[in-house]
Amino acid sequence: MNTDLILILDAAAFAARKHRQQRRKDAEASPYINHPLALADILAREGGIDDARTIAAALLHDTIEDTETTVEELEARFGKRVAAIVFEVTDDKSLPKDERKRLQINKAASKSREAKLVKLADKISNLRDLISTPPADWRDARKMEYFQWANEVVSGLRGVNASLEAAFDEVYALGMAAMK
Ligand code: NDP
Ligand code: ZN
Repeated sequence: MNTDLILILDAAAFAARKHRQQRRKDAEASPYINHPLALADILAREGGIDDARTIAAALLHDTIEDTETTVEELEARFGKRVAAIVFEVTDDKSLPKDERKRLQINKAASKSREAKLVKLADKISNLRDLISTPPADWRDARKMEYFQWANEVVSGLRGVNASLEAAFDEVYALGMAAMK
């Protein structure tokens, strides 16, 4: 039995069920699960990551923050390590948005290697979405603010995967050039 494959499939199915009522913010309101799947794809294909727990954590990365899922639930089903990575990439929603954004910048460098990889993939995915399938009501100024904030977060994530950092730099440069 391939336990790595089973962990990944179980995480994908769990995330699909938890996010089943949610949509992304693009004009077509894409199914939310496309986003965690994109992170897993970026990590495996572009980052060369073959650690099943990191891929599973990527699939689950928004479950605590955006659904009713608890860290204990993830721990019981996917083990302590996967749950800990997801918890590390989860914002404290009791704090005001500005504070959460500031904390992401300040805390990035002290995250575990696995959490940094998931966060890098998250920022790559979100910047790509802002270029190809942005929220309909976002003007360039708002997109640009998001790009700049993401770049500040990524400053603290560097040193874990050169390919992913290059992928981020590429989408950042592409987006910023288009918005000039
Ligand atoms: P939000 O946090 O409201 O939205 C961005 C988040 O939405 C992403 O991090 C991503 O989170 C999720 N998301 C869902 N669908 C998409 C998609 N299609 N493309 C990209 N992301 C998607 O944005 P911010 O508050 O960060 O706004 C950006 C900047 O704009 C900020 O600096 C803020 O100060 C400013 N702002 C401007 C306003 C205005 O001009 N009216 C109003 C409010 C803020 P995840 O990966 O977790 O799903
Ligand atoms: Zn995300």
